[in-house]
Amino acid sequence: MKIGIVGLGLIGGSLGLDFRRLGHQVFGVARRLETCTQAIAAGAVDQATTTLASLNTVEVVMVCTPIAMIEPTVKEIAPHLAADAVITDVGSVKGAIAAAASQHWPRFVGGHPMAGKTEVGLAAAEAHLFRDRAYVITPLPQTPADAVETVQTLATDLGARVFTCDPTVHDRAVAWISHLPVMVSSSLIQACLHEPDEQVRYLAQQFASSGFRDTSRVGGGNPELGMMMARYNQAEVLRSLQTYREELDHLIHQLQEKDWAAIEHTLAENQAARPSFL
Ligand code: NAP
Repeated sequence: MKIGIVGLGLIGGSLGLDFRRLGHQVFGVARRLETCTQAIAAGAVDQATTTLASLNTVEVVMVCTPIAMIEPTVKEIAPHLAADAVITDVGSVKGAIAAAASQHWPRFVGGHPMAGKTEVGLAAAEAHLFRDRAYVITPLPQTPADAVETVQTLATDLGARVFTCDPTVHDRAVAWISHLPVMVSSSLIQACLHEPDEQVRYLAQQFASSGFRDTSRVGGGNPELGMMMARYNQAEVLRSLQTYREELDHLIHQLQEKDWAAIEHTLAENQAARPSFL
C-alpha cells in the first residue's frame, strides 16, 4: 500500500519505520527539507518532500503533526487526493478534530495510537513503538465503513490493540489516563519547585530517584503536547481535575484527622485496582 505521512516526528517517524518494515511504500511530508533528508536516512520513509501535493498517489494519509495543524492539513491536502483515499490522524484529542476534518474529507477516520515517550522529534522515533499498545479509532456515524476498516487493519498490523469508539468517549477516557496525569505530574514538579528553603529544594533534587522519575515523567515532557491536550480537551481535563481536587481535599482531611486507617484502606484499594489500568 502507498502510505503518506505528514509530520515526521516521534509518531510519524515511528509509523514510517513500522510501515516500511511491513512492506508498505511510505511517502513523507515535512516542514523542512532537512527533516526529509533525515527521515530517508533513518529509513522512516522511502521518499519525502515539503509539499502536500506530492501525496497525490497515496491510498492512505496519516497526519502526524501537532494537534493544531491536523485540521488545516486535512483541508490543504484534500484537493490533491484520489476520491477513494483515506485520511487518518494520530492526534491525542479527537472530538475537536473528527467532525471538522470530516467536513473537508468524508473519508477521514480519527485515530490515536496510545504510545509515547518523553523525547519528541524524528530522532526519538523507533520501530515497534505501537506493539501491544492501545490504538483508538474514532469514526463518526457517517464515516464510510471501508475507510474505518482500512485504518483498523493498519493499526492491527502494527501489533496494537485496536479499539473503536465515539470521539467524545475517547476524549473522556483519555482525560483520566493521559491528560489528567500530565496536569497532575506538572503540578507535582511545580509544587516541588515552590519549596521556599533553598537547601531543602537542592537536597530534594539530589535525592530524587525512581519514584520521582516515574511520577514526573509526563509532566516534564513535551510542553506543546501538554498545552494542546488542555486546550483541545478543555472540558474533560477540567472535569477530571475537579474530581482529582476532591480526592486531594479528601486526603488532606484524612491527614488532618490522623485517620490512618482510612488512608491505608484507600492505598490498599489502589494497589488492587492499579493492574486493571496497566
Ligand atoms: P513531534 O515529535 O514534535 O512531531 C511533530 C512533527 O510535526 C515534527 O516533525 C514537526 O516538524 C511536524 N510539523 C509541525 N508542523 C507541521 C506542519 N505544518 N506540516 C508538516 N509537519 C509539521 O510530536 P509527536 O509526539 O510525534 O506528536 C505528533 C502528533 O502525535 C500530535 O498530534 C500528538 O497529539 C500525537 N501523539 C503524540 C504522542 C506522544 O506521546 N508524543 C502519543 C500519541 C499521539 P519539525 O520536525 O520541522 O518540527
